Amino acid sequence: MRSIVRIQARIALRNAARGKCRTPCSAIRHSSSEVRQWSTPLAKQLSEAITATGPIPLASFMRMCLTSDVGGYYTSEQEGRDQFGRKGDFITSPEISQVFGELIGIWFVAEWMAQGKKDGVELVEIGPGRGTLMDDMLRTMQNFPAMAEAIKYVYMVEASPALREAQRKLLCGDAPMIKTPIGHKSMSKYNDIQVIWVENIRDVDSAMFNCQGEGNTPFIVAHEFFDALPIHAFQSIPAPPPPPESTSDTIQTPTGPIKLPSPSTETKRLQPVGPQWRELVVSPTPPPLTPSPKKKPDEFHLTLSHAPTPHSLYLPALSPRYKSLLNTPGSLVEISPESQTYISNIAKMIGGPNPKPPPKEKSTGKGKIKKREPRGAALILDYGPSHTIPLNSLRGIHHHTPVSPFSSPGLVDLSSDVDFTALAETALASSPGVEVHGPVEQASFLLSMGIKERAEMLVRGITKEAVVKGEVGSKDAEERKKGIEGAWRRLVDRGGSGMGKVYKVMAVVPESGGKRKPVGFGGDVE
Ligand code: SAH
Repeated sequence: MRSIVRIQARIALRNAARGKCRTPCSAIRHSSSEVRQWSTPLAKQLSEAITATGPIPLASFMRMCLTSDVGGYYTSEQEGRDQFGRKGDFITSPEISQVFGELIGIWFVAEWMAQGKKDGVELVEIGPGRGTLMDDMLRTMQNFPAMAEAIKYVYMVEASPALREAQRKLLCGDAPMIKTPIGHKSMSKYNDIQVIWVENIRDVDSAMFNCQGEGNTPFIVAHEFFDALPIHAFQSIPAPPPPPESTSDTIQTPTGPIKLPSPSTETKRLQPVGPQWRELVVSPTPPPLTPSPKKKPDEFHLTLSHAPTPHSLYLPALSPRYKSLLNTPGSLVEISPESQTYISNIAKMIGGPNPKPPPKEKSTGKGKIKKREPRGAALILDYGPSHTIPLNSLRGIHHHTPVSPFSSPGLVDLSSDVDFTALAETALASSPGVEVHGPVEQASFLLSMGIKERAEMLVRGITKEAVVKGEVGSKDAEERKKGIEGAWRRLVDRGGSGMGKVYKVMAVVPESGGKRKPVGFGGDVE
């Protein structure tokens, strides 16, 4: 579980917000005789790039740390690296209990039934980790033979070559991985379904629409994926003072002073007035003058950009939600444009794109694209607030411990809160054929999906097995029962290290005028 305390990130952001870290870009340059020791090759590369180009947006820093070719957290080629489980950095719900994936599998079966059992099902998982969730889903779907029959392809959207290979092993056993023009493929151990790996959802989209025409039903799941996508962070500042008039009219050149024309009325008119958004950007931290053996400073830090950036001018203007915060100086917001691109693609895959404006000249009707009937569903499970805009939520995790997100780039997992309201807004704006349900707390979703009953069934199974083997009350059987009990409770507990409250579930389904609620969101199995 990655939603643990975020003190380090909070302090970094707060310091930046208070202006404590305002280091001019030039201060990070070192004389050529100085050899600085960086924690990772990626740290050195980032520092060199920033020294050459200036501070970079937090989103660029995160993207490099997570998926860079030079030892990104997920894309590192370091052998034997495993991010998951006790020996790794964090543990996720599918790794905690098989019941999690089973219930998500059943949720999709219920949606498939409610939508009239359409053929040409394509299961898509975005960010599948070790592949455990898809494996549990596929195994569960075998209990519903008509649904299992309807599955044509499984798509895995995965940036990590090592995790792709782990997923192949789990889902396909000995079947080989074959390179394709859009990624890789292999054959699943379940019903000989083809498993196709791509690196971006766009490739699933194109594969679906180009090869299969209109007949596909995409069922898409993303668990702890959106929290791994890069964010931009912004802070509102009060109206900056206008530039002093007298300093700008003369510049010194090698051939003497040159008088500049005074700024035109038009230039003055374009000067922004009122509060502004400023972007938080990342730079290397200069080495301390007197190094302390006890406390090493973070290798990188956040500063507030001196001037507007293209992102600060564009992103917070996209939604009225950010507008009201602009007038409260010091407000912080996080925005993830990559998340919005992903959810927009998801919405279009389910509900079809927004209709194009009609052509100016009269259409002949030839070559007209037939409207796609909305079909399929997406389930997004992640951590983040239900309604508010995330702020100060960037965190670093290493070996299950919160660490600074600004040191050891590539070795530390970075993630941030998911803005569910932004996802819902973007989904609805991207396709007229979808509606959004939730987010609801994971506890409420899993309990209404029957997690308690399913776990009790597993426990009864162990008891029965022990009776048959004559091992009733054996240590092994008792420990397995305890394991199942502890695991399901952890997924729904709302306090302590429980995941029931922090994690949320949101569904994107075909538009029904709000008449049909999916299971887990107030609806019943039909
Ligand atoms: N869903 C899994 C894994 C979550 S970790 C689970 O719950 O156990 C995040 C996953 O997303 C990893 O598989 C990682 O390799 C993948 N990932 C991260 N950033 C990605 C990106 N930009 N594109 C595609 N996959 C990405």
